[in-house]
Amino acid sequence: MTKTTQSKNQSGQIKQLQFGHRAEVDALFKSIGDGAISTDEFGRITGVNLTAQQILGYSEGELLGTWFPKSIIAVTADDQPINLMDRPITKAYLTGKPVAKNIYYRRKDGYKIPLAVNVSPIILHDKPVGAIEVFRDITLQQEVDRMKSEFISLASHQLRTPLSAVKTYTHMLYEGYMGDLNSAQKKALMTIIGSADRMNELISTLLNVTRIESGSVEVTPKLLRIDKIAEEVIKELSLAADKKSIKLIFTVCGKASSTIRTDSLIVKEIIANIVSNAIKYTPDGGKVELIINLRKNNIVVDVTDTGWGIPKYSQDQIFSKFFRAQNIVQRETIGTGLGLYLVKGLLEALGGKIWFVSDEQSGTKFSFSLPRKQKLPILIKAPAPIS
Ligand code: ADP
Repeated sequence: MTKTTQSKNQSGQIKQLQFGHRAEVDALFKSIGDGAISTDEFGRITGVNLTAQQILGYSEGELLGTWFPKSIIAVTADDQPINLMDRPITKAYLTGKPVAKNIYYRRKDGYKIPLAVNVSPIILHDKPVGAIEVFRDITLQQEVDRMKSEFISLASHQLRTPLSAVKTYTHMLYEGYMGDLNSAQKKALMTIIGSADRMNELISTLLNVTRIESGSVEVTPKLLRIDKIAEEVIKELSLAADKKSIKLIFTVCGKASSTIRTDSLIVKEIIANIVSNAIKYTPDGGKVELIINLRKNNIVVDVTDTGWGIPKYSQDQIFSKFFRAQNIVQRETIGTGLGLYLVKGLLEALGGKIWFVSDEQSGTKFSFSLPRKQKLPILIKAPAPIS
C-alpha cells in the first residue's frame, strides 16, 4: 500500500469514527427525557429535542440557528423579562460552570411556563464552545407546593388553640394548683410539657414558613448586640448539648463593634436553628463551635460541628423546602426539612447570605453574614421558588 492510499484510508476511518460518534451524541441528546437545547459559543441553537419542542410549542425548524435568548423569552414570576446577563445560559457560558435555576419561559402561544433549568457549558481545550440546557416543567410541583403551604397554614392555626390549653392546664397541674402530686406524676407531666413545647415550636416554624411565603412578616430593626443574642441561644441549647455530651463553644473574634441594627427575634431564630441542627446532627461526644466574627462592613457567624456531614450529592438541595439528606433520615427521624429553608428566607430579608462547607468525614460548617448597612425596615419577601 502506498503512503497516500494509507493516509486516505486513515482519514476515511477517522471521518467514519467522527460520524459514528456524532450520530451517537445526537441519539443521546434526542433521547433525554427532559427538554434539551444545545447552543454554539454565540448562543445560536444547534439542537432541540422533542420534549423541548413539546414544552415550548416551537418546532425544531423554527428554533435551529436562531439566537437562544431572543427566540426563547425568559421572564420572572411577575412577568418581567429577565435580562441577558441573568439568564442561566449566559452565566454558565461566562463562568464555565454548570448553573441550576428555576425560571419561566414564554411558550410560542404566549403562555408562561415554570421550569427547573440546568445548563452545562461545553468545554473544549479549556474554552467554552457552547452549552447544553436541560429543563423540566415544574407546573405540577409548584401547584403541590402551593397546596401544601395552604394546608400547613390552616392546620397550624387550628392546632394553636387546643395546644395552648394543654400547656396551661399541664403547668397548673405540675405547680400543684389541683392538689399535690407524687414524683412519678410530676415526671409524666414534664414529658407532656416537653412534647407540647416541641409541638409549639413546630407550629411556629410552619407558620413562619407560610408568613414568609405570603410576604406578611415585617422586619423590625433595632440596635442589638449580636454576642448577647448568641449567648442566649447557647444558654437555651446547652441542655440539649449536655444530653449528648457535646462540647458547646462560643467565641467572639474581631475588634469591630458587636452592635448591629437588625431584627433581634429573626437573628435569634436564625442562630438557634443552625446551632440546634449542629447539635442534632453530631454524634455523642462531639463538638459544636459558634464563632462571631466582627468585621467592619459585616458580621459573619460560623457554626462548626464534628457531625455526620452532608453528602456531596445532597448539597445543592439543602435549602429546599422539606428536604432532609439521606444520611440523616436514617439516623434521626425527627425533623421537617423546613429549618434551613426558613433560615435562608429570613436571612435574605435581613440582606444577609448563608453558605456552608461539609463532608461526611469531618462535619459541617454553616456560615452566615449580616451587613452593617442595609435598607430596613423591609417586608420579608417570599424566597420565590421561581426567580
Ligand atoms: P430538619 O433539621 O428538620 O431536617 P433543616 O431544614 O434544618 O431540617 O435541615 C435540612 C437538612 O439539612 C437536615 O435534614 C440534614 O440532612 C441537613 N443538615 C442541616 N444541618 C446539618 C448539619 N449541621 N450537619 C449535617 N446535616 C445537616
